[in-house]
Amino acid sequence: MKALVKFAAGEGNIDVLDVEEPRCGDEQVKVEIAYCGVCGTDLHILHDRFRYYPPVILGHECSGTVVEVGRLAQHVRVGERVTVLGATAVTCGNCEHCRSGFFIFCRSRRGIGHGVDGAFTRYLVARPDQLYRIPDSFSLEEAALSEPFAAAVQAVSEITAVQPGDTVLVSGPGPIGLLCLKLLAAEGVRTIVAGAADDDERLAAAARIGAVDVVNIGKRELSEAVKDFTAGTGVDVALECAGHPSSVRGCLDSLRPMGRYTQIAICGRDIPFPIDQMLYKQLTVRGSITYTARTWQRMMDIYARGTVRLLDLVSAKLPIADWRTAFDLCADRKALKVLMYPID
Ligand SMILES: [Zn+2]
Ligand SMILES: [Zn+2]
Repeated sequence: MKALVKFAAGEGNIDVLDVEEPRCGDEQVKVEIAYCGVCGTDLHILHDRFRYYPPVILGHECSGTVVEVGRLAQHVRVGERVTVLGATAVTCGNCEHCRSGFFIFCRSRRGIGHGVDGAFTRYLVARPDQLYRIPDSFSLEEAALSEPFAAAVQAVSEITAVQPGDTVLVSGPGPIGLLCLKLLAAEGVRTIVAGAADDDERLAAAARIGAVDVVNIGKRELSEAVKDFTAGTGVDVALECAGHPSSVRGCLDSLRPMGRYTQIAICGRDIPFPIDQMLYKQLTVRGSITYTARTWQRMMDIYARGTVRLLDLVSAKLPIADWRTAFDLCADRKALKVLMYPID
């Protein structure tokens, strides 16, 4: 089968190659991939800025259909449409983090698409516990956004515990920021979205999706815009989804006393953080990275309720042969989410 492979360490070294089709073990399930989203992580792997184990098939945000069920695998049937919690592909299962559900911190963990073979190809094998059945009303395109949406669900609902009545600032209108907005808008939470000078298209998308105000920080000072909008008080919650020093600063400046700040984006370097604001405003500062299996179940319940639809976040669907175009669309920050699909 054809697969998009990081075939060696270093800059670049990605190509569509012929690889062996994976065999479905007794305790495994084989999934035919429908779509797999391109993620910032894939760009980091392209440029050798993220840990990976070559040769490895890339892609970790996928949906598909079960085509084979191993002899000892239970609770799954051929023909079911699923999304895959690929981050748990390899864990020790026994450390305190695995046992408490926070497998993300397991030192043996390897996820699909960088640690082990991923989903920019036709077939993937997984354990039944990694699969989540997609509600009938939800499309395979939308379900391919599950992995990043789960990160938004953990950040918004579990870590930050946003409540109806809160006013929220989402700083950074990339896919994660807009997925946070989707969830907040569905819950009727007033949300302001901020972006940089070249984010006009994504800010327009934010306004369509349900932001009550959008701020282009190239044109308006963020904390001033937030003050205007909140009658001088500041926001209750700031979600930092840009990973940029000016965004971090803008979030801190925009929070009201006793507000909550959650770091969701990766900055990738040390940046100034005016920590006295934590003290003087008595802020709660937290970080949110990925999700637990519990988060995925919560996400499936959200899908089933039908209050969140994700299709308008998909801006392109391309075959894996066009991976360069797909990666470029993501790199120049014009596209929302780009999906790829397998080829023969
Ligand atoms: Zn991702
Ligand atoms: Zn472990």
